[in-house]
Amino acid sequence: MRRKLIVGNWKMNGNLAGNQVLLGGIKEGAGNIACDLAICAPSPYLAQCQSELANTTIAWGAQDLSVHESGAYTGEISGVMLRDFGCRYVIVGHSERRTYHSESDELVAKKTLQALNAGLTPIVCVGESLAEREAGQTDIVVGRQISAVLAAINVTDLEKIVVAYEPVWAIGTGKTATPQMAQDVHALLRAKLVTTSPVADVKILYGGSMKPDNAKELLAMSDIDGGLIGGASLKAADFLAIGGAV
Ligand code: PGA
Repeated sequence: MRRKLIVGNWKMNGNLAGNQVLLGGIKEGAGNIACDLAICAPSPYLAQCQSELANTTIAWGAQDLSVHESGAYTGEISGVMLRDFGCRYVIVGHSERRTYHSESDELVAKKTLQALNAGLTPIVCVGESLAEREAGQTDIVVGRQISAVLAAINVTDLEKIVVAYEPVWAIGTGKTATPQMAQDVHALLRAKLVTTSPVADVKILYGGSMKPDNAKELLAMSDIDGGLIGGASLKAADFLAIGGAV
């Protein structure tokens, strides 16, 4: 049985005082949650996550990392630096980075490798746009995105990654994939992962307007191993309710 994982993706939200309240609320309720929890915070707040979450069961991580190891790359943050702040996870290839920062499948694959080399667990995001879904290309797009990553990493490292299926049209829109729609794509991803390595039991999270009121149905699907939560991770009660739906 894959243990379920609920990850909050704060995106570019928060401030020191607000985070303190949010993390405090999550810590308070986390004891009643039967799955793993993690927070992916903006990088300036990773030190805060480290000091607030260090002695808890809640893990933390970043939302991106550099494709480079170190050196003259102004503004970039390396995987090793993230490890310095106790990060366990790093989101890689979120659709907002693919769209606003032109991240290609190849770049996402290289970042996945960097994360693994630094000892981080990459949460590799894949997902189709609305136009791609309507054109019947979901399988092709998602297949292409995951294949680029699978081709880049060592088979033995496959069990060290987490995959997140995030249909772009469902992110922050209030439109959720139905549990069956999500399950269909998760099954396709699972088949690709199993073909690559039959022994690696990779978690596949769903993301895209997962909320307390739809989490239970989504998390009940056989290939949905958790959630990557944007908007609903910014309120402790909502985030904990999603964790409680496992
Ligand atoms: P959302 O975001 O839950 O606000 O739709 C999910 C994500 O982008 O990871």
